[in-house]
Amino acid sequence: MRAWGGKDKDGNPLNGTRDANLDKGWLLTKPTDLKLRCKYCDKWHDTQEEVEGCNKSRKAFVSLHERKAKEELKEDPVADLRKEVNELKSVMMELMEKIGGKVFQPENNEAPENSKETGGVKKKVER
Ligand SMILES: [Zn+2]
Repeated sequence: MRAWGGKDKDGNPLNGTRDANLDKGWLLTKPTDLKLRCKYCDKWHDTQEEVEGCNKSRKAFVSLHERKAKEELKEDPVADLRKEVNELKSVMMELMEKIGGKVFQPENNEAPENSKETGGVKKKVER
């Protein structure tokens, strides 16, 4: 028990005692009708029907997400990328045709003299 004090609307002091257990929402006597614990959502339901309903809605929720996951797997994750690459390729081909392939095929077809890889080859040709 806990003492409490206060004033009423006219300013007269009020006091008394109260049960702290009631403040916390605890009951003074043991409950006789226990609520049904639901093994599906780990909470309590009033009736067995509610528990079954909880199970049903949970199953529906799970199957919905499983179906969604399967649908996502079916879709090709790189399909969009592939399409974009093909578009880029066609744009590249167009550009190459416009510039006549000059960038990719030098006219003289000779490697620069300071090139490490082809320097030896060029010397052989000169001999
Ligand atoms: Zn439940």
